[in-house]
Amino acid sequence: MEVYLVGGAVRDELLGLPVRERDWVVVGSSVEEMLALGYRRVGKDFPVFLHPQTGEEYALARTERKKGRGYYGFEVHASPDVSLEDDLLRRDLTINAMAKSQSGELIDPNDGQQDLAARTLRHVSAAFVEDPLRILRTARFAARFARQGFGVSEETMQLMHRMIRSRELQEISAERIWQETLDALATDSPAVFFSILQRLQAIEQVYGEIEAVFSDVSAREPALSALEQVASQTDQPCVRFSVLVGSLYFHRQEEDTLEVSHLARQPGLPSSCRELLELTVELQQASHDVFKLDAQALLALLRRLDARRKPERFLDLLLIFSVIYKSLKKANEYPQADWIQLASRRIEEVDIRQWVGDGGASEEIAARLKRAQLQLLEEMMDARGSP
Ligand code: ATP
Ligand code: MG
Repeated sequence: MEVYLVGGAVRDELLGLPVRERDWVVVGSSVEEMLALGYRRVGKDFPVFLHPQTGEEYALARTERKKGRGYYGFEVHASPDVSLEDDLLRRDLTINAMAKSQSGELIDPNDGQQDLAARTLRHVSAAFVEDPLRILRTARFAARFARQGFGVSEETMQLMHRMIRSRELQEISAERIWQETLDALATDSPAVFFSILQRLQAIEQVYGEIEAVFSDVSAREPALSALEQVASQTDQPCVRFSVLVGSLYFHRQEEDTLEVSHLARQPGLPSSCRELLELTVELQQASHDVFKLDAQALLALLRRLDARRKPERFLDLLLIFSVIYKSLKKANEYPQADWIQLASRRIEEVDIRQWVGDGGASEEIAARLKRAQLQLLEEMMDARGSP
């Protein structure tokens, strides 16, 4: 059997980028032989194994043929007679379809090096259409390598557009969509991912009703630039995504935010992400207007923000509100965040233990707590109001 390094490791090495993980392809072997050599099988549908020592992925060279709709509708053919070239031909992009032998020779039958030099993401063959996930992968690679100057080739854009017109993206499960989306959000240029999906008219098939707002250029452009802004401040995908969606809905009425709730409830979106997204659209207006709120409304906001029990989420939300506001209002500062933090600390000063011994019911204690907190907030607001 022969073993070749393939995919991302070959590409990243040629680009002079650090290699994150190594994938290998094995030619001239079989499932039985791999198991006998101590490899552990991990792929249910694909003949993929983990190396007993390094844990790296080794896949038998294979060909695939689409046999039905849906992501799992593949007929996989792996046998010792499948060549390296056959295997490379089933891959998504030419820059991902190069291999390196153990003696260091580069095998590049699909001109990946040429596309690498031209900074082009190009599909390997017409079989690209067999897997709609490749659309999301291509948009994700464009986001990942935008800084290196990569773009998607015109032919590949046209091919993907045709796939989207035949509604192929609906075959992908919500879990896969979110996995790709979160990976794309973590790249250097996440806005590129969404711009490409927009150009392909794919937003509705992937993210549902938010398409209506997204297709409005006066909402989209500022939202994508807010996303770029936040990407320079944090690499957390869910914070980045909340900035994008919060910005899209910045000027919208409350009833529109139902669309965001549907989005947030798609399976596959981690619950911490869902919370951040929902709280962003629910609370951003109150946060931006915090100096105009009365004590009741301020207390309601602080309680929803729940700094005491969720300190990290609280700081994430303040960052989200601040980036959205500064980016959309072209402001340099967001003093609202400092004020909210101050007020938040202030209401924590009330210690309910002072009333616990009085034998009152819990509702009574809650009412006393609220009165005391409102009073503290009113004092703060008065002090702020006077010169
Ligand atoms: P990364 O650095 O993110 O790991 P990668 O290119 O190695 O990037 P992987 O998802 O690890 O991406 O996949 C390894 C290789 O397998 C890819 O380079 C590509 O050749 C091939 N591949 C992965 N998924 C697909 C797919 N859906 N369709 C076609 N080829 C794919
Ligand atoms: Mg890889």
